[in-house]
Amino acid sequence: MRTLIVGQGLAGSALAWACHWQGDQVCLIGSPGRPAASQVAAGLVMPVSGQKFTTPDRWQERLTQAQRFYERAAQELKTDRLFSEIKILRRFQGDAERRWFLHQRYESVRDAVQLQYEPDGRETGFVMSAWKLNVAAYLEQTRQFFQNRGQFLAADLEIAADVVPGPDGVSVPRFGLSGDRLYLCLGASGCVQANPWYSGVPDHPLRGEVLEVVVNDLRDSSACVSGWAGVVDQHWLVPVEGTGDRFLVGATYDRERVNLGYEGWDGTTEAGLRELRASAERLLLMGGWAGGVQAVASHRAGVRAGTRRRQVLAEHHRIYKRIGILNGLGSHGTLAAPAAAVDLLQRFAADRVTGMSTEQSGRRRSDLTEKAQTIVRRAVKAGDWLLDATAGNGQDTLFLAKTFAAERVLAVDVQPAAIEKTAALLAQHGITGVGLVRADHATELERLVRPEGLGRAGQFGAVMFNLGYLPGGNHSLVTRADTTVRAISSARLLLREGGVMTVLCYRGHAGGMEEYAAVLLDSQQQQQCQVDVIETGTGNATAPVLFVYRKRSTVGG
Ligand SMILES: Cc1cc2nc3c(=O)[nH]c(=O)nc-3n(C[C@H](O)[C@H](O)[C@H](O)COP(=O)(O)OP(=O)(O)OC[C@H]3O[C@@H](n4cnc5c(N)ncnc54)[C@H](O)[C@@H]3O)c2cc1C
Repeated sequence: MRTLIVGQGLAGSALAWACHWQGDQVCLIGSPGRPAASQVAAGLVMPVSGQKFTTPDRWQERLTQAQRFYERAAQELKTDRLFSEIKILRRFQGDAERRWFLHQRYESVRDAVQLQYEPDGRETGFVMSAWKLNVAAYLEQTRQFFQNRGQFLAADLEIAADVVPGPDGVSVPRFGLSGDRLYLCLGASGCVQANPWYSGVPDHPLRGEVLEVVVNDLRDSSACVSGWAGVVDQHWLVPVEGTGDRFLVGATYDRERVNLGYEGWDGTTEAGLRELRASAERLLLMGGWAGGVQAVASHRAGVRAGTRRRQVLAEHHRIYKRIGILNGLGSHGTLAAPAAAVDLLQRFAADRVTGMSTEQSGRRRSDLTEKAQTIVRRAVKAGDWLLDATAGNGQDTLFLAKTFAAERVLAVDVQPAAIEKTAALLAQHGITGVGLVRADHATELERLVRPEGLGRAGQFGAVMFNLGYLPGGNHSLVTRADTTVRAISSARLLLREGGVMTVLCYRGHAGGMEEYAAVLLDSQQQQQCQVDVIETGTGNATAPVLFVYRKRSTVGG
């Protein structure tokens, strides 16, 4: 199995290791220029965190998995421990927080925390065992590991153009790469790129800032813990591995400036710097270090890839199952990535993605043709114009002309043989009045729309497309991605509100998958119609797919 992985943050790195350990050949692709949340993350994994002192889902199981995972990576990299236990003191921010914790949460987390007290017996906070991944070392050494094996490429992919699905796998022609499958691990950058596979994911990004500070006078410390949390907005202060005098303090969070879509994104703010520096001073004091902050060594920002449903997105594309995603790790990337990566690969294996036989293709083709006709039958009203945008052998034209008023049916095809076949079929059924046009459908549909052309925008109740080649005709004469998308765009304008368009896409022939990908991308970028995608349910990567567009009533033309 050869697996391509785009993005080398915590998500992509976890997937790369999981693939490597099951014997896959990996190609890990990382963009040298784009910002990554993983470059900013402290790598903290705490059993209790946030305002509400929550515990991550399936905490114990996922922690054990993460421990084993990072330990195995460290062994493979022949490096020191990457994932280490640290003690953190979480201080209550006030009396209300103290009471809330004691009444609402303490019972369920008492095994994981030791309460701390004032001399008068009042609880001031608790100490907990937490874990910390040395993220910088893990990411850098992972990159080097795959690079040394010739399995790392520093490149920024244009997902829509570079990721080309084929019948048996996925390729990235610009870089001469191909694989049996490809995973998109783009983090928050995923929502600012044209991405036909998972457009707009993740949908709830959050910008955060962190500081690395140099502290004074460490030797005077008598603290029994190595990190602190609480005091201000649950900020934390944890040591930077391999340094005796540096701490990381974070994080501020807000939803401003989360757009990573332009070059040179930085994301740091003066306010963030001031807030975090003040927090560092207070947290140090709390830990008994009066010396305070000597200097700020670095100030960075990142955008956390969150989803509104607060769930990690680890799945294979519902139509093209050889493309998958691992994103939406939110605030628990270190803990969540190993479990999600392993689970994703297990699901791929369970799905048994295979090629498709012609026999299956034939059967499914007729199923979807019938489905398209049923959808059209339900939507058309008296007085509607109807269009078969790919006349082909005339079956859809015949259906439209027999079911509705023939004189309101138009059929277009660029091939003379198709127009002849359609005319013969209609004659055989004694049908007259259908407008048969031999023309390229992209050009003809534009003419139908234009006011100075036929001016029929908003007059059609149904438009049908049956892409690919003419059955029984020359298989090298096929509909093409660029003209198909142009024709579909015009057809949306031809539809009246509530009108439907069906586009039956075949993916098994040369160029079919590219055409399908272009239709999919276009369907996700347009606003005029609600689109449903109907698959055959075979789980087969090249099986036909039916797109059903329903023109919305709220958005014009
Ligand atoms: C301030 C801050 C502090 C945090 N602290 C913690 C913490 O203590 N513990 C914790 O568990 N989590 C923490 N997180 C969350 C954690 O950072 C994320 O969960 C995790 O980093 C997400 O990893 P990712 O791989 O999905 O995304 P990213 O790290 O953003 O990685 C995505 C990668 O994809 C690459 N990419 C994108 N598009 C392309 C393209 N077209 N071609 C090639 N490459 C591309 C990017 O360059 C990037 O390297 C923190 C986040 C922030 C912002």
